[in-house]
Amino acid sequence: MSVSRQTVDHLVIGGGLAGSMVAIRLAAAGRDVMLLEKERSAHHKVCGEFLSYEAVEYLNAVGVNPLNFGAATIRSVRLCSKNKVAEAALPFAAFSLSRRALDAAMMTHAVESGCNVQRGVLVDSLKLHGDVWIAQLLNGESLHARSVFLATGKHDLRGWARGHGIQGNLIGFKLHWQLEPVQTNALRESIDLFLFRGGYGGLSLVEGNVANLCLVVLPSALRRAGGWTELLTSIVEDNRMLRQRLHGANALWKRPLAVFSIPYGYLVEDDSGLWRVGDQAAVIPSFTGDGMSIALHSGMLAADMYLSGASAQEYHRRLHTQLRRNMSVATLLSRVMVSSIGRTVAPLYLSFFPNAMRWIAATTRIPVHA
Ligand SMILES: Cc1cc2nc3c(=O)[nH]c(=O)nc-3n(C[C@H](O)[C@H](O)[C@H](O)COP(=O)(O)OP(=O)(O)OC[C@H]3O[C@@H](n4cnc5c(N)ncnc54)[C@H](O)[C@@H]3O)c2cc1C
Repeated sequence: MSVSRQTVDHLVIGGGLAGSMVAIRLAAAGRDVMLLEKERSAHHKVCGEFLSYEAVEYLNAVGVNPLNFGAATIRSVRLCSKNKVAEAALPFAAFSLSRRALDAAMMTHAVESGCNVQRGVLVDSLKLHGDVWIAQLLNGESLHARSVFLATGKHDLRGWARGHGIQGNLIGFKLHWQLEPVQTNALRESIDLFLFRGGYGGLSLVEGNVANLCLVVLPSALRRAGGWTELLTSIVEDNRMLRQRLHGANALWKRPLAVFSIPYGYLVEDDSGLWRVGDQAAVIPSFTGDGMSIALHSGMLAADMYLSGASAQEYHRRLHTQLRRNMSVATLLSRVMVSSIGRTVAPLYLSFFPNAMRWIAATTRIPVHA
C-alpha cells in the first residue's frame, strides 16, 4: 500500500475522466489533492469511445489533445436498420480514442499538475464524522479528508449508491476487433450506428486501426437470444452494414466487457456534502455520445465551484439545472429506440435522416461550458 499519509485536504475517489479533471483543476490551483484509483494500470472500459466536439473542448482546456495519442477522426455518421442505411456529415469533426489511452493520458496529466495519484487502491467505504470524511481502504488502512469528490463512475461505493435512473435496465457490451483492411478503410472517418430488436450500438475506429464495437441491449432481448454470442450472431444476421464490417474480422479479446443495469437518466440529488462528478452525478444514454463530455464538464464545474467557495449542494443544484431538460429528452428517445415502437418508426427516421439527427443532437447535447 502506497498511501503515505493518513490525512489529506482533498480526496478524489476514482481515476476516470471526471476524477482526473477534478484533480487537475484543484492541483493546478495549488491545492493538496490525492486521487485513488482501484486499478493498478490503464484498463479498458465499456464505452463507445466517441469523443464529441464538446468533450474535445474540455480536454483541450486542460492541455490534453486526443490527436497526440493517435485518436481517429470522425466526420460522418451512418445509421443502419436491417438493410437500410442513411448517411450524414457531422457538423464538426469528432474523435475516437480508446478509454485505456485517454484515461491514462488524463491521469498522467493529473500527476504532472501536482496531484498525488495512487493506483491499485480501492476505497471500500466512506463515512462522515463531524466535518471529516473517513475513507476505509480495502487493504485495511483508512484516510481522513476535508473534502471528497466521488468519481467512481459506473461503480457505486458501498453505502453511497445512486438512484436507478429513468431507464435503469440496459446492459452494455464492448469488444475491440481487427477488421479486414477493406472494411477498416470503409469505416475510416465515420461512425456506424445500428438499431436492432431491443437495443442499439455503434462501430468506429480508435487508435491503431482497431475497431470498437459497443452496444446496449434490454435484458429480455439478451435472454431471448440465449447469451452474448447468440445475440451478436442475430444482430449481424439482421443488419447488412454490420454484417459487411465484421466479415472476416477477428475479435481481439476472448469475451466482451459488460456492464449491467446502466442507470440512464440518473441525475444527482445529494445534500450530504459529498461532491459527485461524472457518472456519479449524471448518466446520459450512450447514443448521444455525450457521457464523456458531461463527465469532464461536471469535473471542471465541481472543481471551479469548490475553488470559488460554493458548497457541494450548490454545485449539484447547478448541474441538475443545466442537464435536466436534455437528459429527459435523451432518456425518452433511448426508451423509444429499444422498444417495438422504435423498430416500427426506424424506416421513417431513416427517411428523414439527417434532419432528424440534427434535431436530436440539438435537443440532447449538452452545450460546451453549459
Ligand atoms: C455502453 C456505453 C457506451 C458509451 N459510449 C460513450 C461514447 O461513445 N461517448 C461518450 O462520450 N460517452 C459514452 N459513454 C459514457 C461514458 O463512458 C461515461 O459517461 C464516462 O466513462 C464517465 O466517466 P467517469 O470518470 O465518471 O467514470 P469512469 O470512466 O467509469 O471512471 C471511474 C473510475 O473509478 C474507479 N473506481 C471505481 N470504484 C472505485 C473505488 N471504490 N475505489 C477506487 N477507484 C474506483 C474505476 O476503476 C474507474 O477507473 C458510454 C457509456 C456506456 C455505458
